[in-house]
Amino acid sequence: MGKLKSEGTCVYCEKMYAGSGISRHLGSHLKKMEATSKTTKKAFHVRVSAAEMFLNLLVDGNKPLRELDAFLRAIWLECCGHKSSFEVKEKNYNIDFFNDDDFGEKMDSKMGSIFKKGLALDYQYDFGSTTRLNVKILDEYNLKVPDGVQLLSRNEPLHILCHKCGKQPASEICTVHLWEGEGLLCKKCAKAHAKTCDDFDDYARLPVVNSPRMGTCAYEGGRIDIKRDGAWKG
Ligand SMILES: [Zn+2]
Ligand SMILES: [Zn+2]
Ligand SMILES: [Zn+2]
Ligand SMILES: [Zn+2]
Repeated sequence: MGKLKSEGTCVYCEKMYAGSGISRHLGSHLKKMEATSKTTKKAFHVRVSAAEMFLNLLVDGNKPLRELDAFLRAIWLECCGHKSSFEVKEKNYNIDFFNDDDFGEKMDSKMGSIFKKGLALDYQYDFGSTTRLNVKILDEYNLKVPDGVQLLSRNEPLHILCHKCGKQPASEICTVHLWEGEGLLCKKCAKAHAKTCDDFDDYARLPVVNSPRMGTCAYEGGRIDIKRDGAWKG
């Protein structure tokens, strides 16, 4: 998926922006909101990305890191309850947080005690068929956050075309043929593919969804913000 156009809608003004510019645009809203906000509570503007896909989030510094993990699972990742981790990789500050008791540090620490402007974290979901995300703390504000984690913007479904005909939007995946570059299929080509590939209807059929985990393990889509999940409609 080398050169797909990535863009998303701003939650505040509902205008569409390129993925490369929307974080700064959202920052200008947040700055204005902070100027009239009376709270001393800390909120962080977080960008989560994987190739062309992105999320812009506002998170409550008083909430544990676990809540960000739960949000990422709900919108982008959860298939069968795999383990996950956040890793901070900075000079003099190298720490891993796991969602599992068997490992080291858990995700109970407040985000406000970990995050600071400019900090980057590596996130991994599933240590077998791993989905990797880049998490960047863009800025911090004195703002209240509804529900711990608020979605400010995400990429609209990418314009992924069928591998077979190259004309229609891809809506189904054959995971067996994905690695040969023939696994993303439109409705019509999926029908034809089912006749030649025994594995397809057997176990290898997954939907195209708006997530970096699409086509991996048993991932079939998110549980929140459903209307912007799914495949590009063309
Ligand atoms: Zn806006
Ligand atoms: Zn799974
Ligand atoms: Zn096709
Ligand atoms: Zn196949």
